Parts: sequence; structure tokens; C-alpha cells
Amino acid sequence: MYNCIICRYHEIATKGNNRGMFERCLVENIRHLLKSLSGIRVSRVRGRVRVERTDNAPFTAEELQVIKSQLVKCFGLENFSPAVITEVDMEKIRPVAAELAAEAVNSFADGKPAFRVRARRSNKRFPLTSKDIEIDLVSAVAEKTGTDKFTIDLSNAADITLGCEVRDEFAVLFMESISAPGGLPVGCNPRVMTLLSGGIDSPVAAWLIMKRGSPCDFITFHSAPYTPPETVEKVQRVAAKLNEYQMWGTLCIANLSEFQKAVRDNCKEKFRTVLYRRAMMRIAEIVSRHRKCHALVTGDSLGQVASQTVPNMYSVGKAVDMLVLRPLVGTDKLDCIRLAEEIGTLEISNVQVPDSCTVFAPSSPCTASEPEILEQEEAKIPDYWQILEKIAGNLEEWA
Ligand code: ATP
Ligand code: MG
Repeated sequence: MYNCIICRYHEIATKGNNRGMFERCLVENIRHLLKSLSGIRVSRVRGRVRVERTDNAPFTAEELQVIKSQLVKCFGLENFSPAVITEVDMEKIRPVAAELAAEAVNSFADGKPAFRVRARRSNKRFPLTSKDIEIDLVSAVAEKTGTDKFTIDLSNAADITLGCEVRDEFAVLFMESISAPGGLPVGCNPRVMTLLSGGIDSPVAAWLIMKRGSPCDFITFHSAPYTPPETVEKVQRVAAKLNEYQMWGTLCIANLSEFQKAVRDNCKEKFRTVLYRRAMMRIAEIVSRHRKCHALVTGDSLGQVASQTVPNMYSVGKAVDMLVLRPLVGTDKLDCIRLAEEIGTLEISNVQVPDSCTVFAPSSPCTASEPEILEQEEAKIPDYWQILEKIAGNLEEWA
């Protein structure tokens, strides 16, 4: 019987004059996430977003399933509830409440459920207080089920909670609140470019930045023919998964092998990894300027591997004149793995394929590089910038 999805946000509500912009962005993203369904209306109402069928009929079970599986990917949303929308009138609210809750009570499998009603009243002209509404609705439910069918438990431990929100223009009744990821709607901050490898960390980094409102393009480096096609295919799968959380993001695929050969032939072995990383950043910077991306994002986590020591991160960051966002810098690997699992990228990242960084990898990489020394190493490659420009110019774009 659910004819509405009531969507709640948190951080957007703290915004001042530009709150409308965030709300419009959220509405647009919800529409995009539900684009496979036809005849759906998404509208803003003070402090909430409503999703309904344009004919105002209840959603079908299939529609509800799609909506639930899509809205859990909506940044900016705190939670949402499949709900029944009614007029702001106890005579209308009461029978709906009784029907919804009675069904839940009667189908409770494990003995007598603990039940409660949680009412919120933002409509201050409504004659009943929240407490009054709760008492009224518990009675209505008891009348429908019989008083011996449930116990009353006002705590969070209740087995069944009937929610009721009485607002100025409408009231809603609902039995569950489904958590969404929170954050800010993607698109309310400028577009950025994530350096996406086949590892566990960089997809999580991209996701966290998308969660702060910035849509992501991606760039990945492979080293064909030294790495197999699977190296790129894996990153394509990761990018496709991440794109489920935003409207669109292009994956730029770059072949670093020519540069890696130049490093192998001209530079000190121990600097190879940092030199690769600096080149990746510079190519990403060139591509970002073309694609109007305003920052670079990496999955660096302090001290995780040799290339992520403080001096090496400094040397790598110094290679570009662009903001570098490292959202995982203080995150433990285990926390990162948990997030990757939640996002749905872990399973893809766990497939072992050769990584571009391991091509001609030094047996003992330098952990404390200095930008000046690296510049001297780079000067040993006569056509350093031409190689980078050529790689940036020969990208394959995959959307
Ligand atoms: P990840 O799990 O994200 O690969 P990692 O722990 O393996 O990270 P590194 O291999 O040192 O760490 O890479 C650090 C960061 O550099 C990555 O998070 C990613 O942003 C970027 N990076 C590394 N290799 C590549 C690549 N082949 N293509 C694009 N970006 C890369
Ligand atoms: Mg890696």
C-alpha cells in the first residue's frame, strides 16, 4: 500500500542561502537513480523529498525493490522510508496506521512483538502533540489487532516501530527507515579526477570524494604489452561500479610503458616507483585541464607502502600544480577494506592481475625521495615532457 517514499537528509539541512541548490541537486540525482522506472514524480517539500507515482497509486513490489536498491546509493540522503501519505487529519491517519501496524504485528513470527509508535509533528497547528498522536495510534492498532497481540516498548529495542510524521501539507506513516550513505549530493562540488588503480584503496578514495559532492572522472595507467588486457578490464569493472553512485564519469586509459622504459634506461633503479607516480600525476593533471577536473584524487594512505611515506608523498605531490586530495591518508587498511566491501568494489579489486607499477619495479625502492633529486633524474630523460604529452594525447576514453 506504500504510495510514497519519504527521503530525509541531514547535512544539506545545515546549509544557509544556497540550500536550494543542494536540494535541487539531490532531486536531480534521485531522478537519475530511478530513471529505469517510468511515471515517477520526485518533488521537494520543506526538509524532505517525496517520491511518488504520477498517478498517485501505490508502488508495485518490483518498483519498491528498484527504489530501495537505488536510493541506498544516493549521496546526500541520510535515510528514506516507504510510506503511506495521507491528509493532515487524524480521521485519515488512524485507519492507515492501524492497517500498516496490524499487518506487521500479525505477521511477526517470533512470539509477541514489542511495538511502539514514534510520532513527529512539524505542523505546530495540528491539535495533537506528538505524545497524543502516539497514544491515539497505539489504541487504533490495538483495536484492530486485539490488545493481547503485542506489548508496548517505547525504547529503540522495540521489534516493530510505526513512524508517523505530521507536516503542514501532508502526513506520512511508515514501518522502516533505510539508511543511505549521507554526505552531499554528487554534482554540488566541482568535478575531480581520480587516479584509479586495480587496488582496493583508490576506488574507496573516489567514492569518499563523490560522497562529498564531487563527480569523478577516472584515469588508469597500464603498461601493455608488459601488463595483460585484464589489468584494464578490471579497472573498467571498478569504474562501472563507482558510476552507479553518480550520473557519469569517464575512465581515461593511458599506456605508461614507453615512459617506464625511458626510466628503466636512464634513471637510478631505486627511484623508479616515485618517478612513475610523478609522471602519472602530471599526465592526470594535463588530462584534468582538458576535462575541466579541478583536483586529483589518490588512494594514498600514510605509510602503507614505500611510495606512501611522508617524503615520497611530498615528492609526488610536488610534481603537479593542482590540489591533490588523499581522503584515505589517515585510514587503516582494515577500515578501507570494510568500506570497499560496502561499496561493492572489494570483490573486483581482490581479483589478482598484474599492476602497472610492478613493471620494472625496483627490488629496493627509495622511501625518502627529494623533489630536487627526482628532477635531476627526470632531466636524464631527454624527451621527458614529450613522452608525457604523447601519453596524455593517446588516451582511450571509456564511459
Ligand atoms: P590502491 O589500492 O589504490 O592501488 P595501493 O595501496 O596499491 O593503492 P599504490 O600502488 O602505492 O597504493 O598507489 C597509490 C595511489 O596511486 C593509488 O591509490 C592510486 O590513486 C594511484 N595509482 C597507483 N597505481 C595506479 C595506476 N596504475 N593507475 C592509476 N592510478 C594509480
Ligand atoms: Mg596499487
